[in-house]
Order: sequence, then structure tokens, then C-alpha cells
Amino acid sequence: MSRYRMYPAPTQTAGLLAHCRHARYVWNLAVEQSAMWTRDKGSTPGFHEQSRQLTEARAAFDWLRAGSQTVQQQALRDFDQARRNYFAGSHGRPTWRRAGRHEGFRVVGPQAGRVEQLSRKWGRVLIPKVGWVRFKLSRALPAARSYRVARDSVGRWHIALAVVPDPIPAPGNGSVVGVDRGVTVSAALSTGELLNCPRLSESEQRQLTHLQRRLARAQPGSNRRQRVKAAIAKLHARAAARRKDWVEKTTTDLARRFDVIRVEDLRIAHMTRRPKPKPDPARPGGYLPNRRRAKAGLNRGIRSNGWGLLVQRLEHKAAGRVERVSPAYTSQTCSRCGHCAPANRENQAFRCRACGHSDHADVNAAINIAAGRAVSARRDKPVRVSLKREPQLTT
Ligand SMILES: [Zn+2]
Repeated sequence: MSRYRMYPAPTQTAGLLAHCRHARYVWNLAVEQSAMWTRDKGSTPGFHEQSRQLTEARAAFDWLRAGSQTVQQQALRDFDQARRNYFAGSHGRPTWRRAGRHEGFRVVGPQAGRVEQLSRKWGRVLIPKVGWVRFKLSRALPAARSYRVARDSVGRWHIALAVVPDPIPAPGNGSVVGVDRGVTVSAALSTGELLNCPRLSESEQRQLTHLQRRLARAQPGSNRRQRVKAAIAKLHARAAARRKDWVEKTTTDLARRFDVIRVEDLRIAHMTRRPKPKPDPARPGGYLPNRRRAKAGLNRGIRSNGWGLLVQRLEHKAAGRVERVSPAYTSQTCSRCGHCAPANRENQAFRCRACGHSDHADVNAAINIAAGRAVSARRDKPVRVSLKREPQLTT
């Protein structure tokens, strides 16, 4: 993804904002349609049915017809992809897009090829119904197949040209690595390496807490509130940029060094769900504690480590060399003798109750993942699994 700052002329800004509005409107309609779906209605309309409905809507509403069909149809395509990602388990359920927060649209296909370099410092892109818009070339222009235009919370425009990275050739040395993704350690490798995704520094974290307190006190609708909000958004954006950078570097490194990369088949969308409320049998209408706050903290940890993105990029760069392994009991099983018991694990340390083997808990899990070990669901009984056995893949 190559991102550039875009400088639309004042007359073009209105056109760009209209595209954002239309894309959001179409997306939210699709979200609403799937939210209203019930079992007795049959299957939810897919992309083709929704496109047909869009054509009808464009015929009925002048304001929608005035916009770009390319932009509106792409919003449906993006929704379709988001829904696929959700059902594949790598992403959360597509949610509502809000004005001011989600200002953007995407252009894919031949229309996305209309990008030119004007000079050493400037490029321009032909946006449907808006015309040529200039952007500053902060890096070389790639041959992109799609782009996304977005307005950030501070009001700056950006264009991101998407390039699917070329697969990295395998080293061909027969090496296999297991990656255990965690919250305390972002990724532990079966080689014993512990990789950490950079986060906000302590002073940045303090600054964020301070700003959040100021936001709570600021008058709704005031200029001060706007300023504080923008400052908070800037810090979050910085954290996200660091996370992305780390994921890119880590995945390139893994794809270069290992032939086969085994990861846990984690369903993040399910894992980051809110815990169910527990009704209290003693008090009708009352609820027992369900550790909701603790779960919220864990969810933040999972998301801030960029788990989904890590596997997605690995699958791009090491295409066909990434294997998903069942995550069951990988953290409780001894990587040396195969003894499986919850007591083996003490926080970050692993100590086998059967053979006395000790290791970093996440590294032990990563070794199990690398072995693709099929672990028995019966605990407290040693499981003998030959190391030569084929890995059990979950499909
Ligand atoms: Zn053991």
C-alpha cells in the first residue's frame, strides 16, 4: 500500500465528499439488509442481487444517480468481501460507517489505472466525475490495480494505491516454523525468538490518557473538543502505522527464512466477541459478573497485536506455504514428551509435570504448532504422537 497526501482543488472537495457519502450510504444499506435477515427469508442477497437493487435505486433517486456508479458498486463489492472475511473468521462483522469517521471510497479495475506522474514531486489521478486531482509523490509510483481515497479526521485527503505484493520465493531448505500469537508476546517462534509489536511509548500512552480525560470534560460541540479529538485520532493513527510496519517487516522475514509457516487457526472474530451476560438465578432480572471488563482488555490486546493482518500478509507473501493448525491444547502440552495438563502452564513459564521440561510458555506452544501436533482432547493423559506424523490441518 503506497499512501500519498492528496490536494484537491476547493471545487473538487465537494465531489469527493459526495462520493464518500454515496459509498457510505450504499454500504450501510447493505449492513442493514443483512441485519434484517431472518432464517425464513432464505439466503441474504449476494453481490449480484444487490447490484441489481442498486440499479433500481439509481433509477428512482436523482441524487444517487448524480453520483458515480463505479464508486457505489465498489462499496457493494467491498461489503461482499467484508462479509466473506467475517465468515472465514479472520475479521469482525461488517459494521455501520459513520459520517466524519468513515469518509472514503475505493476505485478498482481499469478506472484505477488512470494515474500519472506530473513531475518529480507531483502525480495526478483521474477520479470519476471529479476530474484530475493532484497528489504529492512522497515515494515512487507503483503499478496499482486499485486505490482508495479517504479523508482523515483532521480533514486531510489521502490516496492509497494498493499493490498485492509479489510472493517471496521459499528458501528451499525444508525449514518449518511455528508461530504462536499472544497478548503478552505478540508472536513467539518455535526457534525461541520472541517478537513484539511496537506500541505507543510510555509518554505517548500518558499523553493519550491525559487527552481522553480532557475530552470527557470538554463541552459537546465546542472547538476545544474538536481539537482534543483530532489529537487523540493522531495518536491512534501513529500506533496503527507502527503496527502495520511491524507486520510487513515480520511477514517478509518469515516468508524469506522458512519453507513452511504454521499458525494457529484462530477465529479472531469469535474470540473478540463480547461475553454473554449471566442471569442471576437468585435475583430475577439481575446479572452475575461475567468478566466483561477483563474480556474487553483481552480483546484490545488481541486487536492491538494485529493478529488477523499478520496471517493475511503471510498468506500473500508466502502463498501456499502457510498452514493452519488446530490451536487446541497447544499451550498445555509438553513439546518434548507430549504430556498434556492444564497444570503444566504457569503464566509465562511452562514446566512439564511428567518429564520436567521447562521453557517459555509461548515458545513451547510455538514448537507444538510447528510440529502440527494433533493433541488429544483428554487431558492429564500423555499423548504419544510420532514426530513424523502428518500435521492435522483444520480446514
Ligand atoms: Zn514433558
